[in-house]
Amino acid sequence: MSAYTHEVRQQVFQQLDQVKLAFAARDWFPGTSGNLSIKISSKPLLVAVTASGKDKTVCTPYDYLVVDENSNPYEATSLKPSAETQIHTAIYRNIPETGAVFHVHTIPNNIVSELYSNQGYVTLRNQELIKGLGIWEENAEIRIPIVENFADIPRLALAVEKVLDPRIPGVLIRNHGIYAWGRNNFEAKRHLEAFEFLFGYHLQWLQVQQFAGHIAGQQQTLTYRAAGQL
Ligand SMILES: [Zn+2]
Repeated sequence: MSAYTHEVRQQVFQQLDQVKLAFAARDWFPGTSGNLSIKISSKPLLVAVTASGKDKTVCTPYDYLVVDENSNPYEATSLKPSAETQIHTAIYRNIPETGAVFHVHTIPNNIVSELYSNQGYVTLRNQELIKGLGIWEENAEIRIPIVENFADIPRLALAVEKVLDPRIPGVLIRNHGIYAWGRNNFEAKRHLEAFEFLFGYHLQWLQVQQFAGHIAGQQQTLTYRAAGQL
């Protein structure tokens, strides 16, 4: 039986508002990009999702709608669901405990997805915030899948579906963004924040390593010079 009522719908829309404003404050929705969803019921699958093309830095009565498992509007509405809603419903269908799915485009997640796109995943290890993904092993190592950014959304949704790993609550789309999810909106938000921290750290670490290598090279040159070997 569906748990869908007007009150539940309002409650879920309010939760989406809170997440939306928190992410908007971090500039995670450039150019109206990104989309958010929270599950209302499992049987039948009903999902509250962001409407297409809305400015996500503001809240209006026209920001969300409810879709079914085929990503079609559940009620009569002039609103269109986000173009990528099929990716959300694919995640809900394949990982049934999922309660919320959040998608953002950021510079760190785009660069990481491009950097490791050829191998189809990025490996991150030895980071405290891996625990933020609900993985508590010591010296944990995680592999986040990366899929090509197909323009055809059903094809993209299928590509995401194929790489879903219930242990890793996220998938990167090459030079596009990340989908992260959790059992509820709190957990999905925590996962997304952890991923973004890990990507930001990883990129800065690569830069520091390169800089350190450059300094070491300069010092070596100076040492050789001092020793009259250059
Ligand atoms: Zn997107």
